[in-house]
Amino acid sequence: METDDQNAAPSISSTLAGNYFISNYPPFSFWSEDQNVEAELALNSDPDPEAKLGIYHHIPFCRKRCHFCYFRVYTDKNAKDIKNYLAATIAELKSIAERPLINGRKPHFVYFGGGTPSYLSENQLRELTDEMKAVLPWDEAEEVAFECEPGTLTPGKLAAVKAMGVTRLSLGIENFDDHILEINGRAHRSAEVFGAYERARAENFDQINIDLIAGMLEETEENWQRNIEQTIKLRPDSVTIYQMEIPYNTTIYKEMKAEGKLVAPVADWKTKRRWVKEAFAALESAGYSIASGYTAVLNPERTKFIYRDALWSGADLVGLGVASFSHAAGVHYQNMTEIDDYLAAITEGRLPLKRAFRTSEEERMIREFILQMKVGVVDLDYFEQKFRVDVAGRFADQVRALETEGLLNVSDGKVRLSRDGLLCVDNMLQGFFLPRHRTARIV
Ligand code: SF4
Repeated sequence: METDDQNAAPSISSTLAGNYFISNYPPFSFWSEDQNVEAELALNSDPDPEAKLGIYHHIPFCRKRCHFCYFRVYTDKNAKDIKNYLAATIAELKSIAERPLINGRKPHFVYFGGGTPSYLSENQLRELTDEMKAVLPWDEAEEVAFECEPGTLTPGKLAAVKAMGVTRLSLGIENFDDHILEINGRAHRSAEVFGAYERARAENFDQINIDLIAGMLEETEENWQRNIEQTIKLRPDSVTIYQMEIPYNTTIYKEMKAEGKLVAPVADWKTKRRWVKEAFAALESAGYSIASGYTAVLNPERTKFIYRDALWSGADLVGLGVASFSHAAGVHYQNMTEIDDYLAAITEGRLPLKRAFRTSEEERMIREFILQMKVGVVDLDYFEQKFRVDVAGRFADQVRALETEGLLNVSDGKVRLSRDGLLCVDNMLQGFFLPRHRTARIV
């Protein structure tokens, strides 16, 4: 493994603090409170008949905070706090469902993320989802996805999750080694992983996904190879592998700062990329196909990522709960990021808005283009039809430079990323941003 000397000057491949993963455009740092009125206007507008609708529900509770976590999570809330929070999210959903943009539409996909959705009890899950369905029925949803922490998945809970209508169960395993799980602050251990996986299989979910992270604290060559072997042995329907990043609000960064270190104590980017490359190659040999810069799937015909694909082609997304992100009729917005502020806004009957951004048509085109690049193949005709833009021509300079580096090519009406291009896709996307968005820190 190539690691940096923590006290030496950073190299080009060093893992420094900050966000690497690009999940939206324009970057969040451009969204502002001044534009909150745009979110109100968007929700009061008529829907685009072509746009799909999705619901994201944020469950901000976890058993323990992982050292690399940068999400809004709480580890100190009791049953009453959780009940109040869930009731607030239902009130939020009711208020949004009455707005002209949403009224009468049915969700195409539903996503429970966090935090840890599986932290909720069986009763809490049943009540929450019954109430959500009473407001916006899910009977036409093609996907209901649910993120889990393996240590929270009792047999009864898995049955309750299945009964909710979940089609894709995503297990946040991250690593199979108990020491690495412990040193990174994860709440679960490998015995819980294997138990949860077996029980989830017995419940016959349409799709079981395993999440792994390449480059956790103290990851080694040998251990990473064991992770790959173990994953292939379990044979999940899909595998998602993230390369470890160290954003500023993580415990790891706080320790780096206190010790005056610039370089994070994890493998460098070159090593993390090689690890994912090796994992992808091993998964391909075991019958998997690579479906994006982060995912491998066993059966591409059967295993789809409805949430991802809809969102990356401009779907409306209603994000419920603290700190959640929404996209409504071309307007991005984020909810308040502190639970007390969020609850107060809901109690007062206000939308719990923190910041918003109205996108232009050009920004929406760039957003979809860069997000679809993450899949590895971009259909040029889609952009001609939807935005009347020849994206290969519009981005000719960037495309030529990346072609020269062997990271992508354009042929048969498609931009295709090479494997090396796919593994560093987040790195290349800033080059497609409008100049005014390029200098900003990606947060
Ligand atoms: S389980 Fe996920 S959301 Fe919860 S603390 Fe760990 S990384 Fe964060």
